[in-house]
Amino acid sequence: MCGVYIHIPFCKRKCIYCDFYSVCGDDKLYSGFVSAVSNSIKRRSNKSIKVDTVYFGGGTPTVLKSSQLVSIMNTVKHNFDVSPNAEITVEANPCTVTEESLSELFNGGFNRISFGIQSAVDNELSALSRLHNYKQAKEAVFNAERAGFTNISADIMIGIIDQTRESLIDSIDKITSLPVSHISAYMLKVEENTPLDEMIKRDGSLLNSIADEDELAERYLLMTRLLEEKGFLQYEISNFAKTGFENRHNLKYWRCEEYLGFGPHAHSYFDNKRYFEDCGVLEFIKNNGEQEITYTDTDVDKAEEYIMLSLRLAEGLDADRLTRLDKEGRYKNIISNAEEINRLSGERLVNISRDGKNLSLTKRGFLVSNAVISRLLN
Ligand code: SF4
Repeated sequence: MCGVYIHIPFCKRKCIYCDFYSVCGDDKLYSGFVSAVSNSIKRRSNKSIKVDTVYFGGGTPTVLKSSQLVSIMNTVKHNFDVSPNAEITVEANPCTVTEESLSELFNGGFNRISFGIQSAVDNELSALSRLHNYKQAKEAVFNAERAGFTNISADIMIGIIDQTRESLIDSIDKITSLPVSHISAYMLKVEENTPLDEMIKRDGSLLNSIADEDELAERYLLMTRLLEEKGFLQYEISNFAKTGFENRHNLKYWRCEEYLGFGPHAHSYFDNKRYFEDCGVLEFIKNNGEQEITYTDTDVDKAEEYIMLSLRLAEGLDADRLTRLDKEGRYKNIISNAEEINRLSGERLVNISRDGKNLSLTKRGFLVSNAVISRLLN
């Protein structure tokens, strides 16, 4: 089973911290893009490929009309063997949807929606330069529920300018009391060359309004505890779900499974090859989605990749799978280094199953995952 990712590279306005590939578009650009991405899907048509997850990400997919998103989805269905119970997700910003547009999406086959809410505190949303306030976010979630969505995700951000422990707890309480079944919780990262990065370079005192590393770590642990108390179980470093609502599409990335990506900068991993559509949106439209794909990391070390990705998951690493991938035995230490595993386990950073076949990081271990992995490898 394969996943399909469609990258919609548009946003109404760029947020100050964001370094994802997206531009501000208009109706002409949107319709040119829909035609180009549909053409790109048709070019790689293959009805023998079985698809059980489709993910529309961005950018902000819902800046397009619902009819345009449904039309792209129908093109996917006509060109691949999409399973009847496929998970079909659309990312959305609260101020780009209405009850009507959400009904159109649900009736058009989308069955999962992920809202970039980030915070329930309006001052924090303004500090992030988000376009919505919390009232709009709340309305959007209830509208999605009325439209028929039962699989609704919300993002929460830690480390926002002026966020306090109390305001984070308030956001967690409010957002988890909405009809949501999944939470993605991210730390704000100051990415190079974003407007936020430039603001900080101009005025270093802004950093005083962002919690320091130790405090962020405490807040992360507090958040995992609060979410679990509310029934959202951690299944990945940044992701929490009620039972049965884990994001099947993103699990494919972490489990090193196959996916096909369409749209500018969308990545694919298929038939043991990694590649992406290396062009901006204007070029993509000009070529009508027919540009050459660019192959990447052809000599990627599959065993190392498996270690890095599987240890992001609460389910952890399977020793037998690692042995199959690690033909030269370069990483056998990771599960056979009993002394180090015992030490890490004593520090409450890793869990090892009784038979030694499964290794996973604890919540505390997730916070320092790179350091734990390098200790295991040495
Ligand atoms: S809406 Fe999302 S993708 Fe668009 S600029 Fe803001 S953070 Fe980036």
